[in-house]
Parts: sequence; structure tokens; C-alpha cells
Amino acid sequence: MRLGVVTSGGDAPGMNAAIRSIVRCAIPRGAEVIGIRRGYAGLITNQTVPLTLRSVGSILQYGGTILYTSRCPEFQTQEGVEKGAEVLKSRKIDGLIVIGGEGSAKGALRLEDVSGVPCICIPATIDNDIYGTDETIGFDTAVNTAVNAIDKIRDTAVSHERVFVVEVMGRNRGFLALQVGLATGAAIILLPEIAFELKDVCRKIESFAERGKVTSIIVAAEGIGNTNEVVSCIERETEYEVRLSKLGYIQRGGSPTARSRLLADLFGAHAVELILSGERNKMVGIEGRTIIATDLQEAVSKMKPLDTGLYRLAEDLAV
Ligand code: ADP
Repeated sequence: MRLGVVTSGGDAPGMNAAIRSIVRCAIPRGAEVIGIRRGYAGLITNQTVPLTLRSVGSILQYGGTILYTSRCPEFQTQEGVEKGAEVLKSRKIDGLIVIGGEGSAKGALRLEDVSGVPCICIPATIDNDIYGTDETIGFDTAVNTAVNAIDKIRDTAVSHERVFVVEVMGRNRGFLALQVGLATGAAIILLPEIAFELKDVCRKIESFAERGKVTSIIVAAEGIGNTNEVVSCIERETEYEVRLSKLGYIQRGGSPTARSRLLADLFGAHAVELILSGERNKMVGIEGRTIIATDLQEAVSKMKPLDTGLYRLAEDLAV
């Protein structure tokens, strides 16, 4: 069997560990592994590299992806997917493992439909916004990166008795902001999934001040929209000086945490097991402590619920 491996969409720490796990589980079981470079853009232009047991040595500790990645608008068209299917056929690839986010999984679903080549997806994104898995590869690393950054910001916030609004990534979902907010003891967490009024945010900041809390960190998910408005509203409605800090791309990179690596190892091994046993159209994931597989169609069409219990706990702990 000849297996293709591709990393697609936004990079996430742990993608390299997943590539290594796939190669080192597949080759001893008689499969050949070909890396497809630069996501679906590289697939349709036939950019490949052979992957061997040795060529994936000493990569698991690095963020990013040795295969490179891309966003490929052409792959969203029927012709683009057909080109990809042609390359899979001409390169005699009879199974594909796609490591990426929800968009990449949607692409895999169409590619399998057009090419007939079995595809298995491994969820890797710092946003953790994929149905069918409690956690995605890279999420834990991004949570830790943001927590470390906010701990530093807090030093300044406390010293200057200021309010800081810290914007974290997550696309249009609030999973990252929620865990980061809870772990940094944020006074307020603003998420796209939970409606809020800016005037209530200001009132809350004032009531904190009345109770002697002179420093507040507000963790805001990028998905809420314009975080500048949060800043100007608090400055207008309260006595506080407010600073905005957008953590930005530092959240996407860096050495994966042990947890992100472990998840990558487990997901890679399970993806290989599935594809070598003739499974297709699946997304691997973790539920509790169990590695599972979800139907790909279900994974891309269902919305992962946010843990509102965690949100309420964060509210209770911020006094
Ligand atoms: P991620 O995989 O991190 O969610 P994107 O949403 O950018 O990142 O998706 C990665 C790539 O997957 C896109 O650039 C595109 O090539 C492909 N893709 C996304 N959505 C679809 C779709 N509905 N059909 C086919 N390909 C898609």
C-alpha cells in the first residue's frame, strides 16, 4: 500500500509529531509513505517527497510542519478537486491521511468522493473547533503559550493598576479563549458563543473596583469582533486606563507541549490502523481517554458545543 500524508490549512504545533507517528507506524507494516508538500496546493501540482523512518527523525519537538502547508482556493472548485484526484491516481496513492482543521477535512471529503481513494483525517488546529474530538493537536500548546504571555502581561497590569484586554485566537469559536481565561484567572471572558453587552462589562469592572480589585484582565476571543470597542467603552464608562494586547501569531508556533505530542502520536497511530484495515472517510479523535473515529461527514457538519460549565466556573472564580 502506498500512503500519502498531507498537512493543510493553518499550521499547529504537533503536526510534525503526527507525521512521524504515521511514518513509523505505517512502514513497519509494509506500507510506503509519500509526503505531499504545501497542502492541497502541492497535491494538485504533484509536489511530493518520500518519507522514511529516518527522514522523520528529530522533528517531533518542532512546531510548524516539515511538509509545509497552504490554503488553496483552487481546491474549493470541482476542477481543483479533480486535479487532486488525478495526481493521487497517477502517483498510485491508495490511501491519504490529511492533517489539518475543519476546512482541510471538508476538502478530504470531496477528494474521497471524486477520487475513490480512502481518506482519514487527523484534527490539528490551535482553535480546537472540530466536532468529534475533545481536543485537537496543537490546542494545548496554544493554551500554554497564551497563558505564559498573559502571566507576563499581568505583571504590568498589577503594577500600573490597569485593565488589560487580551485578544486570543480561535477563529469564530471561543474554545481557546475559555481555557486561557480560566487558567489565567481572567476577570471577564468574552466569547462569541456567549452574548454580552459592553455596558454590562463596564459595570462589572466598576463593581470589581468597588470591592478593591484594581487590576482586571479581560480575555477576549478574536471571534467576538472588534476588541478596540471593548477598550474604548471601558475607558469611556470607567476611570480605568485600558490597554489592548493582541497575542497574534505567537499562539500558532513553538515547540509542542507533551500533551500535543502525545495526542499526535495516538492520532497518527490510529489513522494508520484505520487506513490499513480498509476504513475510509473517518476523522480520528479523543473522547475522555479513548481514541475514537467519527464519520467525516458528521465531523464537518456538526458544531462542537462549548463547555458552558467551564465558563460558569471562571465566572465564580473571578471575584
Ligand atoms: P483549516 O484546515 O485549518 O480549517 P482552511 O479552512 O483554510 O484551514 O482549509 C484548508 C484548505 O482546505 C483550504 O485552503 C481549501 O484548499 C480546502 N478546503 C476548505 N474548505 C473546503 C471545501 N468546502 N471543499 C474543498 N476544499 C476545501
